Amino acid sequence: MKNYIENCKKNLLEHSIEKDDYEIALDEWYFLDEVIDNNEFLEINTSRPSCELCEREDLRWQFVIFNKKNNNQLKVGSSCIKQFNVALLDKSGNKIYGKERNSKINKLITIQRINSSNKMTFSALNELCKVNKDIEQNSLFIDCWTQLKVNGAIEPKIALFLINNFNWNGIDISKIDMKIDLQKRKCIEQLNNMSKNAYISIRLYINDKKRKHYDKYFGI
Ligand SMILES: [Zn+2]
Repeated sequence: MKNYIENCKKNLLEHSIEKDDYEIALDEWYFLDEVIDNNEFLEINTSRPSCELCEREDLRWQFVIFNKKNNNQLKVGSSCIKQFNVALLDKSGNKIYGKERNSKINKLITIQRINSSNKMTFSALNELCKVNKDIEQNSLFIDCWTQLKVNGAIEPKIALFLINNFNWNGIDISKIDMKIDLQKRKCIEQLNNMSKNAYISIRLYINDKKRKHYDKYFGI
């Protein structure tokens, strides 16, 4: 923890106009709504960037913070924004802190997650269409496309259809992080009635909490 705070202070003062008083320097900084998803540009087996404040490595999400006095930028993790109380600047130029800012951070991550997961899933879908031209006529495939566009999440049986087709056609699924919808009753029933092997193929796309529940259900 000591190192954490010292790294943050050192890096912040280095990029601020104020060079001594950390609290004063902190007031020069704010963030808007720019969040970077490092998974999007990641090659397999390379590590993700670190937080430019605390130097903690392997961040998926980086937020860009700006210095209003010298226009410097730093890419930092969301926990540093919360911990060091960096202001969120809204459209009218008001500074927002605390719970309101934190919930905005979480919303930004959710939106970015939907966008980028779909981006990766859609590029795999496009690849699938190239190698298997008939699939575009398949009604499950059409449903899948619609559900991703509209809900950002897909039904379990459609996820299974997709993963099987990706595998049969040799399409790389390592970067896909589509989400399986388990809100609707129909979706829960589909999953409850799946075989254990089918569940294993799609379990990575189920959120952690529900996956724990279903791992137990399927005896994994
Ligand atoms: Zn950090």
